[in-house]
Amino acid sequence: MTIGELFRNGTGHFKTITRHKAEVMKNCFRIGLYWQGLLHDLSKYTPEEFLTGVFYYQGNRSPNAAEKEVRGYSVAWLHHKGRNRHHYEYWIDYGPDRDGIKCTELMGNRMPLRYLLEMMCDRIAASKVYKGSEYTDAAPLQYFEASREIRSKAMHPVTKHQLRVLLRMLSERGEEETFAFARALLRREKKQKAEMRLAQARSFWRMPAKRAGRKPDRSVLRKRSSFASQNSGVDL
Ligand SMILES: [Zn+2]
Repeated sequence: MTIGELFRNGTGHFKTITRHKAEVMKNCFRIGLYWQGLLHDLSKYTPEEFLTGVFYYQGNRSPNAAEKEVRGYSVAWLHHKGRNRHHYEYWIDYGPDRDGIKCTELMGNRMPLRYLLEMMCDRIAASKVYKGSEYTDAAPLQYFEASREIRSKAMHPVTKHQLRVLLRMLSERGEEETFAFARALLRREKKQKAEMRLAQARSFWRMPAKRAGRKPDRSVLRKRSSFASQNSGVDL
């Protein structure tokens, strides 16, 4: 490969990944995932990943796929999925041990909400680039339904279900409504976490519930952690 070719591939790959990153960032910002939007796929600019993009540059398809064909595996992809939590492959590990028996099967763990949503943003952006002017809101769902991941154990069944619900909503009701739903999910989770922390702090310092005589909120009580009940000695 000549210096000229390397330079051409380098600029081509830089433009591809940066255009995609910008598109994902736009989606993430719309649902309130600002930090993740900024940091999305930053590892693509490290030498381990970027150089594969240069040496195996294809123009019309993933350089990782080309690297895999040659080496049998893609160093860039393994580096990428091991560092980026918005890929369900990041969450693969042995299942929990049961009754003292070690689990020997690798499986996908359930993805936390914010990474599930970043994955949705990623898929929307990738479909837009891939489909170009033929893109419709149904494209990410069609891609998902036709993929091998839907039939594999690598994605946790709950994560699979949640992603399908989100993409189906996108396909039937459009971006505006789906992003508003995603924002609402994040808000609800934030609220639940705050309530749980408050309940923990209250039981730790043995503070009485908000108002005397007021029936305690059952949902908050249920969320009080075992840490609080074990450590404070207060009957919850
Ligand atoms: Zn990524």
